[in-house]
This record gives sequence, C-alpha cells and structure tokens, in this order.
Amino acid sequence: MILIVAEHTAGKLAKATLEMVTAARESGREGPITLLVLGQNVAAVATESAAVADQVLVADLPGLATYNAEVWAAATTQIAQEGEAHTVIIGGSRSGREYAPRVAVKLDAAYLEDATKLSSNGAALQAQRYTYLARVTETVEADGLVVVTVKPGSFAPAAPAAAAGEQYDVELSLPAPRVEVTGKSVEKSSRVALTEADVIVTGGRGVGSPENFSRYVEALADNLGAGVGATRAVVDAGWRPYAEQVGQTGKTVQPKAYIALGVSGAVQHLSGMGKSKNIIAINKDAEAPIFKVADYGIVGDINEIVPALIEASRK
Ligand code: FAD
Repeated sequence: MILIVAEHTAGKLAKATLEMVTAARESGREGPITLLVLGQNVAAVATESAAVADQVLVADLPGLATYNAEVWAAATTQIAQEGEAHTVIIGGSRSGREYAPRVAVKLDAAYLEDATKLSSNGAALQAQRYTYLARVTETVEADGLVVVTVKPGSFAPAAPAAAAGEQYDVELSLPAPRVEVTGKSVEKSSRVALTEADVIVTGGRGVGSPENFSRYVEALADNLGAGVGATRAVVDAGWRPYAEQVGQTGKTVQPKAYIALGVSGAVQHLSGMGKSKNIIAINKDAEAPIFKVADYGIVGDINEIVPALIEASRK
C-alpha cells in the first residue's frame, strides 16, 4: 500500500494532504492509497480523509494530542510495517521533514526529500526536486521501500474519489517522548494562510516602503479575501515577517490567482509561485523576468495602478 500521513490543523484536513494524495495517484505505484490520521479528536479529519483515499487508518489517542517527532516517527513506522507499505508519503512541512528521515531509518528505506513530481520507472519510484538554488531540477529514483516528502504547493489538491474509503481504528504502542513541547504561542491573523489561499497578493521591493506595503498589498488582499505574500528582499529589509516569504527559502504556493506587485521575478521567487494557475504582474519595467511567467501583465507604476485596483475591488 501507499501510506500517506495526513496533515491537519484545528480539526480540518490541510491542503497539503490533498496534494500528497495527488502525488500518490501520479506516482504510478500500486496498491490502495491509505491515509493515516494521527491526533486526538480527529473524527472530522478522518471523514474528510475518507473522501479522497481508498482507506483511512485512524489513531485517535491522548498521546497524539500534540505533534512530537519521536512519536510520529514511531507511529508511522509501526503502521507502515503492519500494512507492508512500499511507499510512505509525508508532507514537506517543517515537522514532516523532521520525522520523515527517522521513519526511513527505522524502516531501512530509501529517502527522497522535497519531491515536486512523482512517477514510476519500472519498479523504481522517480522523483523530481530542485537543487542549486532552484536553478536545476534533478531527477532521482529509488527501488523498493521508499519514504518521500512532498514539497507543499507542488501538486494540485486531489478531487474526491468516486466512493469514500473505509475507516479503521488502529492500535499503537507509542514511546514516551524525550522532548516535550512546554508552550506554544500562535500568531494571530484574520487572513487566510498562504498555503491554503486561493488568491495571493505579493509585494516586492518595488512597492517602495513598509507603509506602501500596507496601503497597497494588504488593502488589495483584504478586499479580495486573499493571503499576503512577500519577496525575500522585503523580508530581509524588515518590512514583513518571514512567514509571508514566498520562494525557494520561503513557502511554495499554487493559488488560483497570484498577484505580484513590484516583484522582479528572480528565479528563487519563481520557484515558489511559478505553478500558480494565473499570474498577474504589475511592474514598471517591461523587461522584468516576472512577465515571462505572467498570464496577465501591466507595465506601469504601482502608485498609479494599485489605488484604482483597490477601488475596483472594493465594489
Ligand atoms: P527587486 O529584484 O529589487 O525587484 C523590484 C521590482 O520592482 C523591479 O522589477 C522594479 O522594476 C519594480 N518596481 C520598482 N518600483 C516600481 C513601481 N513604482 N511600480 C512598479 N514596479 C516597480 N527571493 C524570494 O522572493 N524568495 C525566496 O525564497 C528567495 N530565496 C533566495 C535564496 C537564495 C539562496 C538567494 C541567493 C536569493 C533568494 N531570494 C529569494 C532573493 C532573490 O534572488 C531576489 O533578490 C528577490 O526575490 C528580489 O525581490 P524583489 O523582486 O522584491 O526585488
């Protein structure tokens, strides 16, 4: 079977999980697509999972209330062994990349990290991933048992399957974790998370100042119910928090519409948003590389164009 560890937050299945299901469907590997739901009070997540998977294994336990790398690695390994999984797919989130290598070691499996595409080459699982500052896409492959992490935003979210998969409760023997999470503070934002957003408005250095970022980028995003993104230049300048950075060293996104204001389109930025369905760019330089990937482009000054867009979007 293909075992996917579901990602979920606040009782809802994350978009990243639907992307992993697409990765599994495209992998060409055989066997039922099985979602493993780890957590506490996860009945709603399990039901959402059943809509896209052949089967869902549910471990609803107090010991799984909070993510812990040792516990997640042990649980995933146990289920992979019991179900004789040949492919284990884990999200390329910070936590996924923390415990996935542990699972690979425990299973004595090959480990493919940060896949942006999956396919089969005979018996081998083939993955594509970025390297050399995302200037090079390399293809790697491994035979037999493989653990793979999937780069968020690289696959389209899976549509529901024809029939809902069966749900099964599973027993786990969990280790006592050596590392304990003793506190958590969650950044409060009324805006949709970047990796979940259908529309993203991103500002680059061309926006001019942190004040203009609020005036133009945030205002347009709020009128459109969109997420807010930033280039690294803007984050490095301290205008915006790192959580908003899109690109090779930030988030990878694939929204239905990506609106880039004053963004030059450096290769490291494009690697994080180049797969967006529609890219709309506004830049005063007609030669800016962003126009090479844009579906719609306006050559002009943000200070003149964006206020009109904000006014139009308010209506
Ligand atoms: P600039 O390149 O300075 O572009 C500003 C644009 O605004 C220009 O095209 C200009 O014509 C336009 N402009 C200026 N004024 C106006 C105006 N009034 N109206 C309209 N247009 C205007 N970058 C990322 O974004 N994400 C990453 O994750 C990332 N990772 C990196 C990793 C490495 C290892 C390295 C080396 C670099 C990385 N970078 C990343 C940085 C990247 O190379 C670029 O420097 C950065 O993306 C440029 O940001 P920018 O487009 O905001 O700024």
